[in-house]
Formats: sequence, C-alpha cells, structure tokens
Amino acid sequence: MIDPAADRMRMQDPRTQHPMPPFPKQPQAAPGLATKMEPQPDHGELSYKGHGRLSGRKALITGADSGIGRAAAIAYAREGADVALVYLPSEEPDAKEVVKLIEAEGRKAVPLPGDISQESFCETLVEQAVAGLGGIDILVNNAAKQTTQSDIADITNEQFDKTLKTNLYAMFWITKAALRFMPPGAAIINTSSVQAYHPSQGLVDYATTKAGIQAFTEALARQVISKGIRVNAVAPGPFWTALQPSGGQTQEKVEKFGSSVPMGRPGQPVELAPVYVLLASQEGSYISGETYGATGGNSL
Ligand code: NAD
Ligand code: MG
Repeated sequence: MIDPAADRMRMQDPRTQHPMPPFPKQPQAAPGLATKMEPQPDHGELSYKGHGRLSGRKALITGADSGIGRAAAIAYAREGADVALVYLPSEEPDAKEVVKLIEAEGRKAVPLPGDISQESFCETLVEQAVAGLGGIDILVNNAAKQTTQSDIADITNEQFDKTLKTNLYAMFWITKAALRFMPPGAAIINTSSVQAYHPSQGLVDYATTKAGIQAFTEALARQVISKGIRVNAVAPGPFWTALQPSGGQTQEKVEKFGSSVPMGRPGQPVELAPVYVLLASQEGSYISGETYGATGGNSL
C-alpha cells in the first residue's frame, strides 16, 4: 500500500489529486458533522506528516472539530504543539476524533465545547485554554456560521445577528482576551474567505463578516506588532467541509461543489494545513498583515 503522506507529497496533477464533482446531495442540520460527509474530507488524518515546526507551542483553535480547523489542529499537533479546541456541544463526535489524533502524537488536547456567539463563553474559553495549555502562543479564529439565502428578504434579524456574533464579535472577544497572554513571537490567524473579495449573491451576511475579518486582521497586525505579535488571514475558496451541506450552500450547489474554479474541484482541508503551519511558525517571521489565498486557481 502507498503511504498516504508520501502520496500527498508526490508530484502530480493537482486537478486530479482529490475527489471531483459530482457529489451526492447530503443535507445535514447546521453545524453538520464531518463524519457524515460523503466522500469523507481529508483533514490529514493519514496524509499529513509533521517536521517539528511548532515544537512546544500552545495553540487555541476555534472550530477545530471539523474542516479547515481540524486540519490545522492535526497539523499543529504533528508539528509538536499542544492544542485547545473550541466547537459546539453537538459536534462532540467529530471533536472526540480530533482529541484522539492529537493525543496519538503525544501532545495535549484541551476540548472546549461551547457557543462562541456568547461573550461570556469567549472569555471563559480563553481562561480555560490558558489553564489547560499553560499559555497561548497561537490563536486561530476559524469558527464560522454560513447560511445561504437567495433573497435578502429571507435573512431574518436573528440570522444576521447570529452570523455577525459568530464570525465577527467572537473573533473580537476571543482575540482581546487572548492577547493578554500572548508573548512576542506569538501569531494570530483569522480564517477569511474568497467571499471577502468576490461575494456571492446568496451569502450577503456571511460575505459581510468576511470583509470585516480582512479589515480587522490588517488593522490589528499594524497595532500588535508593537508587542512582537503577527496577525494574518487565510482566504479559502471552496473547501469540502461540513459547513457547505449543512445550509452553507443549496444541495444543488453541493452536488457540483468546486466545479466553477479553474481546478474543477473543491479543496480538501489538508491542502490548507501547510499554510496555517507557516503563518503560525517562526518560518513565517516576516509575514504579518497579509492574506494567504487558496482558491483552486481563482485569484483573490
Ligand atoms: P466547518 O463547519 O467544518 O467548521 C466551522 C466550525 O465553526 C464548526 O465546526 C463549528 O465548530 C464552529 N462554529 C460555528 N458556530 C459556532 C459557535 N456558535 N460556537 C462555537 N463554534 C462554532 O467548516 P469549514 O469550512 O472548515 O469552516 C472553517 C472556516 O473556513 C470558516 O471561517 C469558514 O467561513 C471558512 N471558509 C470555508 C470555506 C469552505 O468552502 N468550506 C471557504 C472559505 C472560508
Ligand atoms: Mg464542525
């Protein structure tokens, strides 16, 4: 059998490296579970190999149970970091798998279930992460809510409020609380989106938050470099995660997910892991206030 980690590094055509549409319709209630997806996303479980780039670091990642956050969590643990993971209580089955994978590397996992749209939980989760990890060197603000609506008339105040609270306010609350504990050399990484640059007509509220994340990242980067802390954003194009079939897209769009980008397929979460590692590690020492795109060929 070919070693999946060696196979991922083998020179090959990126268009055919991972599953291509069409995909089956697969509706789930938000936030969705990665374990219920078909095909199963590749978060690096078998395919990511670490090289000690984050030896001894302490990382706090929101939305680390599934998708892009899970790929970052697995990669960080394999690079030598302990990881605190934030997720919604209903995502416990996904989170349990990530905890097991982190512990299999001999690293510490600190599970923090709760709702980040609540300010009080954001403060508590930072305190619990500091208590569990002994500090915070890396903060990844990655959790998000995405609900497609083709007509603005269907976006309720409740939806608009929840999307802004989850995607923007929580980033503000968690970052503000975490910065008190972050030493020089620490890094903050915010998950933005291609939606900040090319917003889709069905994602008015979500795209608004992603543009906000961009401005937040750039302003904060200029500010906190005075403390020796770098801040960057990652802007993914279409990635095969639970966010999409659980209301982020219509099921018709899930079927052909990724077909509109030049590579003709969605990205797999593991394909972003090296970017989160670079931006967190000392190898990224001169990179701050930037956005790293991974869009399958559609530039930002
Ligand atoms: P995902 O559903 O696997 O991850 C999002 C996570 O956010 C969930 O697992 C959940 O734990 C967390 N979350 C949502 N609401 C929460 C709340 N109230 N409290 C606590 N946690 C909450 O999907 P993903 O695609 O990996 O999303 C990760 C990031 O990537 C998001 O910021 C998303 O906007 C961004 N992104 C995704 C895509 C894509 O195509 N999948 C494209 C661009 C950007
Ligand atoms: Mg999830």
